[in-house]
Amino acid sequence: PPLDQLIASIAVDIPDFPEPGVVFRDLTPVFADAGAFRLVVEALAASVLEDPRVAALGGGPADQGFDVVVGVEARGFLLAAAVALAAGTGVVPVRKAGKLPRQTVSADYVLEYGTATLEMHTDSLVPGQRVLLVDDVLATGGTLEAAVGLVEQVGGVVSAVSVVVELPALGGRERLRPHTVHALWAT
Ligand code: 5GP
Repeated sequence: PPLDQLIASIAVDIPDFPEPGVVFRDLTPVFADAGAFRLVVEALAASVLEDPRVAALGGGPADQGFDVVVGVEARGFLLAAAVALAAGTGVVPVRKAGKLPRQTVSADYVLEYGTATLEMHTDSLVPGQRVLLVDDVLATGGTLEAAVGLVEQVGGVVSAVSVVVELPALGGRERLRPHTVHALWAT
């Protein structure tokens, strides 16, 4: 089947998690399925190639459009390391506040209830390094907007933001403009 249908058939909808009225898309069964996980990782690694702006980012024909993969704690870590290995790049973490041991930059963002903080090591990217930013789900876009801000604060250039699932009704794609969002499944 097409990849979006495969993901849809394996992901599980959890009503009323983490609170009443929210339907949570649980992707852990997709990651646990060897075939689906491989296809998802390869599609994420190839996602920037679909972007017509890749040429403008300076690569040759064999260039995949990014130099490093950045993943957002915690489910983004499962994907980012695998995507980096598939693409032949390194991987850099964006973490929740207080976890990284050296000097960090931080970004606060709004959750449905309250706020949270993400951090990145100040020296974790080489200035000008092109970043593929990866997470599992794009909902309101608050998390990835904060992550984009961190990448840019430490000198990185976001090539694209790639996710497994996008919930288009929540407007995350619009919020991340002008950055390009690639989603393997929109629902
Ligand atoms: P946002 O900041 O875009 O509103 O929410 C995105 C973050 O919340 C992501 O890090 C994602 O892991 C998590 N998230 C929000 N909704 C869902 C969901 O339905 N399923 C999963 N797996 N994660 C979600």
